[in-house]
Amino acid sequence: MAVGVGLLVVNLLSPGTWGSEQKRVANRINYELWVQETAHVQRPLDGRCLSCEPANAALRDSIAAVRGTSEPNDWAKAGANVQTKKQGPLQFLVDIVPSNIFLSFNNTLMLQVIFFAIFFGIMLLLIPPDRAGPVSAFMNGCNDVFMKMVDVVMKAAPYFVFALMTGVVARMAGDDPGAVAELFKGLAGYMITVVLGLALVVFVIYPALMTALMRRNVFRRFLKAMSPAQLLAFSTSSSAATLPATIRCVEENIGVSKATASFVLPVGATVNMDGTSLLQAVAVVFLAQLHMVDLTFMQQLSIVLTATLASIGAAAIPSAGLMLLVVVLSSLGLDPAWVAIIFTVDRPLDMCRTVVNITGDAAVCSVVAHGEGEKLFQEKGA
Ligand code: ASP
Repeated sequence: MAVGVGLLVVNLLSPGTWGSEQKRVANRINYELWVQETAHVQRPLDGRCLSCEPANAALRDSIAAVRGTSEPNDWAKAGANVQTKKQGPLQFLVDIVPSNIFLSFNNTLMLQVIFFAIFFGIMLLLIPPDRAGPVSAFMNGCNDVFMKMVDVVMKAAPYFVFALMTGVVARMAGDDPGAVAELFKGLAGYMITVVLGLALVVFVIYPALMTALMRRNVFRRFLKAMSPAQLLAFSTSSSAATLPATIRCVEENIGVSKATASFVLPVGATVNMDGTSLLQAVAVVFLAQLHMVDLTFMQQLSIVLTATLASIGAAAIPSAGLMLLVVVLSSLGLDPAWVAIIFTVDRPLDMCRTVVNITGDAAVCSVVAHGEGEKLFQEKGA
């Protein structure tokens, strides 16, 4: 639902089209040249070729010179020879299942890797503990090693981010510094869209679901009860760091039992990220609009799946959702480096989406507790 709301607002407001048309054409040509330079992407998502049009030839050549693309326009010739396979509407589901997991690792087919990981994990639960134990211990050890690697590499992250952003912004601006201002104007539209989508989830979807499932309107009291945790989520941008406060609010202010809270909330903090998945949906469509890439209804539908999986995979820490956006973009055949464009404005959005993430967890927790017959809100106080 959150992804659906995100897609709805971003399609209605189209923040990516707010900037100048000329700049978007330049962005589009950049995208087409990226397609040409990228071995595993054969043609632009919508199959159009603006860089083939004679009117854009001069622009294409100047952008190609900046990028260092050899023989711009090659892909169009090659693309003409590529036979596009007739694919059914559910092809994206078929594509998620790996036929060879090592190929998936090699080609960074992240959705296939995530699918395999989930399948592997569930199967691990279904075999006797004495056989599963060593595998789990090994996996946990590997997890620790990889986390440490990320930790060490991330020490240099500010420099990496600086370099990546400078490159992308300079490429988008070309030799016109005014274009940078234009880019930031476009980003304001993106931020408004995300915040509007998040507000709809919190103030429309959650109350509607809670009222329907709990058969009473407790949303005001729910928000008041959760406000300390929401404030912490806003300031830390981390569902994991907020977890103890979320548990406390749900237990003490709402009256959920310890058993329910400690079962639902830790899973929710890592898996259930409505704000994150909404942001990913908005970001992908916004970036596509900014680069004049028309996404079809089916392609947008596949965003529902990829954004949901990516938000499940995202860690409950600051900016994790943005990192996983790389997966969503590349699984759709878009340039993952576009993430750098929205990096600048991610922190405030991260603060807002983390609030939505933990509010969603608490809402689900209250509904589960209600289903278990626990006395919530006034029953406890009364
Ligand atoms: N910061 C978010 C959270 O912890 C994850 C994200 O980056 O979207 O819930």
